[in-house]
Amino acid sequence: MERRHFCRLVCLALLAFASGCGVERIFPGAFPAERDNNNRFGAPAPDRDAGLSAPGRRQKTAFYERLEDNAVRCSVCFRGCVVPEGGVGFCLNRENVGGELYNIVYGRPSAVQFDPVEKEPLHHFLPGTEILCIGTAGCNFRCKFCHNWPLSQQSIHEIGRYYELLPEEVVQKALDRWRPPSLSFTYNEPTVFYEYVYAIAAVAAEKGVRVVFHSNGTMTPEALRPLLQYVDAVTIDLKAFSDDFYRTVSQGELKAVLKTLEIIKEEGVWLEVVNLVIPTLNDDLGEIRAMCRWICGTLGAETPLHFSRFFPAYRLTDLPPTPVETLEAAHALAREEGLMFVSIGNVPGHKFNSTYCPGCGEVLIGRVHFTVHEINLEEGRCKFCGQEVPGVWA
Ligand code: SF4
Repeated sequence: MERRHFCRLVCLALLAFASGCGVERIFPGAFPAERDNNNRFGAPAPDRDAGLSAPGRRQKTAFYERLEDNAVRCSVCFRGCVVPEGGVGFCLNRENVGGELYNIVYGRPSAVQFDPVEKEPLHHFLPGTEILCIGTAGCNFRCKFCHNWPLSQQSIHEIGRYYELLPEEVVQKALDRWRPPSLSFTYNEPTVFYEYVYAIAAVAAEKGVRVVFHSNGTMTPEALRPLLQYVDAVTIDLKAFSDDFYRTVSQGELKAVLKTLEIIKEEGVWLEVVNLVIPTLNDDLGEIRAMCRWICGTLGAETPLHFSRFFPAYRLTDLPPTPVETLEAAHALAREEGLMFVSIGNVPGHKFNSTYCPGCGEVLIGRVHFTVHEINLEEGRCKFCGQEVPGVWA
């Protein structure tokens, strides 16, 4: 590699690294020590007097049914929590007040900022643009490796800080800053602020703002399908291809995620898949091959797959970072299985940060980490060989 080109890549890598994870920048050092959330499901909502669920400040949950004794069953996600009167759901965001279920983070995001769209990650969606990213408190999973745990594993009461933003104000922020404008529900699981997501997405669609979300893929089909009518692209974490991993490491469920992926494909919304490869927990190459085969066969060879490098975080600090060789082996077998767009993330400067043309092998979109330095697409086609490249390009 020429010295000049090498220096440019190093500078881009440093810039990209400096752009880092935004959540810490929003509330530096503000989070209390981690807690055990598992015994709080169904417990009385904390700090009621904070007023978040007071009449006039609460938003009714979109999908639930009433049961005996004023209990309710939520059907926004796969868990189907039965929430007793006065209690909260597993996600800590849905509260039963008098036999009705309310979302207490509606209009109260705890993280709002612009990020490169590459950070979602999305590689085939308006490359090189910035996207308005929104997250709230809460999650319906308990991933031991969560990098955003200060947001996802705490209730809004515990975080104690949030913005007051109506859907129209969020959309206006996206419109004010970047062309073409887009916004994303990310940082924590959009399912747990579904009502807010839906309301913002509906306004955004009306105003010509593109909508994206990054999810663990466990909304119920009845919640997912109506939302997708307003959505332009989705990134889904396929955390492993084993239900055992989902249950023991994330308190999730593989079956629900696979169903979600199929529905998104069926609805024709642009889809990218992320697999965080964690040493000893989901790095078995046989399992990764089976996952790639399923993606290729069910979702299509053109589905971008991002292998992401694990770094110790939250409750998984006793494992080392993923060896780059493991990611490269996963990449090689994904290509063998027929996937056309496979990348390696969280390894700034790796050649597979970039997207290559499946026709001629040239660089289609050159990236260093989250920074795009080269786009060789013309009207959705490779400018070298004319191969059509699927995605949302304009
Ligand atoms: S969104 Fe999921 S975790 Fe939250 S209350 Fe509803 S079913 Fe439970």
